[in-house]
Amino acid sequence: MTYDPNNIFAKIVRGEAPCFKVYEDAHTLAFMDIMPQAEGHTLVITKEGAESILDLSPEGAAALIKTTQKIAAAVKRVTNAPGILLAQLNGAAAGQTVFHIHFHVIPRTSGLDLKLHARETANFEQLKTLAAKIAAAVK
Ligand code: 5GP
Repeated sequence: MTYDPNNIFAKIVRGEAPCFKVYEDAHTLAFMDIMPQAEGHTLVITKEGAESILDLSPEGAAALIKTTQKIAAAVKRVTNAPGILLAQLNGAAAGQTVFHIHFHVIPRTSGLDLKLHARETANFEQLKTLAAKIAAAVK
């Protein structure tokens, strides 16, 4: 598939669509997933327009994992979750629904099931509050 520069995450990168931002640097951006699978579910994306890990430059991949590590630590600090799940889907067959490379950072607690993927939109006020807390916890 050819990269679609009008996918929702590309629009967020360009500031054409809103997001609850938690972090930004020259190469990456992190914001709340609006249909979280657990409270604190955050997405980390590259500013580079690439559909999947297979299309991303090595420099983009390095920046993405570096920011993902930073955000995973901040999400853990804020949610106090004992586990952090990182997920990264490549291609529709793998379940990818937004075709701009991203990592999911999802807090996990054993015995607490994840909500279904990209199904239920969260309360925006709660997302805004969480985004501010996670942003403040980024080191
Ligand atoms: P994928 O299925 O591609 O791995 O994950 C895409 C994720 O993006 C899903 O978890 C979905 O909830 C989230 N998502 C879809 N549309 C939007 C949006 O407009 N804004 C935000 N912040 N997240 C979105």
